[in-house]
Amino acid sequence: MMEYSVGVIGLGFVGLSHAVSLASAGYRVIGVDIDREKLGAIERGMPPFKEPGIDEVLRNTIGRSLIVSSRYEDLKEANIVFIAVNAPTTDKGQDLSQLESALDGLARAWRGLNDYRLVAIKSTVLPGTTRSLYKRFKMLSNMPRVGFASNPEFLREGRALEDIRNPSRVVIGGVDAESSEVLSGFWRDYYKRVGVDPPILVVEAEEAEMIKYASNVFLAMRVSFANTIARICEETPRCDALNVLYGAGLDPRIGVDYLKPGPGYGGSCLPKDTRALIHYADMHSIPVPLIRAVEETNRIQLERIIAILEEELGGIEGRVITILGAAFKAGTDDVRESRSIYLARELIRRGARVRLHDPLALDNARRLLGDIVEYHRDIDSALRSSDAVVIMTEWHHYKNIDWSKLKPGTLVVDYRRVTDPVSLEKMGIRVRAVGLSRKK
Ligand code: NAD
Repeated sequence: MMEYSVGVIGLGFVGLSHAVSLASAGYRVIGVDIDREKLGAIERGMPPFKEPGIDEVLRNTIGRSLIVSSRYEDLKEANIVFIAVNAPTTDKGQDLSQLESALDGLARAWRGLNDYRLVAIKSTVLPGTTRSLYKRFKMLSNMPRVGFASNPEFLREGRALEDIRNPSRVVIGGVDAESSEVLSGFWRDYYKRVGVDPPILVVEAEEAEMIKYASNVFLAMRVSFANTIARICEETPRCDALNVLYGAGLDPRIGVDYLKPGPGYGGSCLPKDTRALIHYADMHSIPVPLIRAVEETNRIQLERIIAILEEELGGIEGRVITILGAAFKAGTDDVRESRSIYLARELIRRGARVRLHDPLALDNARRLLGDIVEYHRDIDSALRSSDAVVIMTEWHHYKNIDWSKLKPGTLVVDYRRVTDPVSLEKMGIRVRAVGLSRKK
């Protein structure tokens, strides 16, 4: 292809991480978003979310190889545009309104152009969506030569830049052969620039879309599987799910990664995408009991934490309960669908006084929870004279807590297995750890 001029629509997690990565590889990148506050922060070199390395890359590219704007017209010169807006799952199914308005804006900016341009959909969308968006785009843009492809994203929050630079795979599903060829050519050019050679898989658009769901639902299934085994281990004398799952995972067909018990999966992707695939299956009258069980298992994991607190504290009302960790996982300030947020709300509903600590995500948590909980930036103050402490995020900070400062008899509910229950019990602290049998 020609010299690349890149556009990115939607400067959220995926979009901004791509925009800075591509800009720092030497492409000219125009990023467009409708959120002016976000654009202002980006222009000042301040990323709207926490992600290792992004501050520096943004500072080095903004105003130089990376320009951001609220106007789709500024994409007129771009010849390859990535769409990275969100497609939330609602009760009615997948909400495509962000995608449609982003693509309508781009179609107006490109209307009638004769040279070849390509749109790549990074957003996670259900099978068939890319092709139907393509038909709509072609009609609105009136372009004789426009390519379209699904290019799902697999990056992990907390490692976004690293995963973009060195992905496990690149999946490309063009609506036609030329679209796939052009997009593969672009990514080959990028990986040559950054000096890596990841597998590039070219498939049908519907297969590309489906690969993303198969991946996320499988990951959700691993979490629910680990939590199921953990629950059984808890009732089995001398059983620790960490040992059991590690032993099972050593089988190369199973693998040890992503097979740890915890409070259940959260974040902006797994819950949303699991729900979307169930909805899709329902629409097509396809029975998916396995995926429903994955969701149900995730839901009851939270109930289990509440049941432990009820049982050990003899009731939750009036108790002071500290939640350690608001982010859905360590390394990010993202609290979207974090189990901690659900837990905090439920504990409040049951009359507890809830304190919340997180090293990064308190501001985002406050946006969701308002003033119903107390926010603590200091761990010691969060723990002081609490009746119970629930560890919900695997922040390394929680591995080095001086637990001896807790009042004797305090309950620690360790849902990330960051503590050593034996030494805590020696200090007179009661411990309930996910996956760990209490039956000697
Ligand atoms: P996000 O909500 O953080 O970002 C979306 C951005 O799009 C926001 O900045 C919003 O202001 C902007 N936007 C909305 N409508 C717009 C419009 N019409 N024009 C321009 N901008 C608009 O979402 P995200 O977490 O970056 O996820 C984006 C997509 O990528 C989703 O489909 C998600 O499932 C997928 N994905 C996310 C991750 C992740 O870790 N977050 C990983 C892989 C894939």
